[in-house]
Amino acid sequence: MYIGRFAPSPSGPLHMGSLVAALASYLDAKAHNGLWHLRIEDLDTPRCDPKYSSQIQSTLSHHGLCWDGSVLLQSNRLHIYQRNIEEIVSESCGYYCQCTRKMIKDNAGVHPSSCKLNGHKSGAIRFHHFQQISTFTDRFKGNVAMDDSDTLDDFVLLRKDGIVAYNLAVVVDDISQHINHIVRGEDLLTTTPSHLALYKYFNQPAPSYAHFPVLKDHNGLKLSKQNHAPAICNQTPEHNLKLACQFLEIDIQSGQNSINGILNNAIHSWRLKHGLVDG
Ligand code: GLU
Repeated sequence: MYIGRFAPSPSGPLHMGSLVAALASYLDAKAHNGLWHLRIEDLDTPRCDPKYSSQIQSTLSHHGLCWDGSVLLQSNRLHIYQRNIEEIVSESCGYYCQCTRKMIKDNAGVHPSSCKLNGHKSGAIRFHHFQQISTFTDRFKGNVAMDDSDTLDDFVLLRKDGIVAYNLAVVVDDISQHINHIVRGEDLLTTTPSHLALYKYFNQPAPSYAHFPVLKDHNGLKLSKQNHAPAICNQTPEHNLKLACQFLEIDIQSGQNSINGILNNAIHSWRLKHGLVDG
């Protein structure tokens, strides 16, 4: 059974780029007759706001993007991440790091790793990347090879400010929600080797990954909350969905003007585009 998800961070309202991400993961799940879960990745408390979490859910509902099951909030699962981090450290697969940004910058942007030997008991906690996985098959991009040393660095599991890092939480949650298909923007491609290393550590099968191109503004920057991408207007869901389909190169038959009509047509087109059996 296909189980997919959309995992937005509530650091702002949904914008066109995040609607594209929601739609791509939704269409892929529905084209496989699978489940589509919603997980709110609200760990970065200085940047996230609960008001955006409910706004995101409302925008998805206005666009007919109904998730299966209940919404998982990462902020309710801190004890689980904490337990995993303690276990990783106790098995000597994680270590405390007090390196500053400057030390990393001075080391060509790569974490120097010398702190591994210092035996500190405070600071950030990094994953000891024993067996780096630098190549993987992406369903949309084919074979991907990463050779940037920073991509394959010992990544952070717990930040210096005590906030659980995205890389740890995303894998812990994808495993516990039995997610076996991940469809997300290619801005997250470079995090995939770290995620694959954690699947290996947890002795769990890795999901299938598919990364699609992200929407950029006219300056070539990824549409994002940081770049002040405008919020989606809930009054024009049909128009927004059509625009998102256009970006994903999904044809919608003319005459489809209802949300359901557009989504059903988009699922059909997604199947054709990705060589999936219709039905
Ligand atoms: N929460 C991440 C974001 O909003 C997405 C996580 C993922 O899809 O792996 O960029």
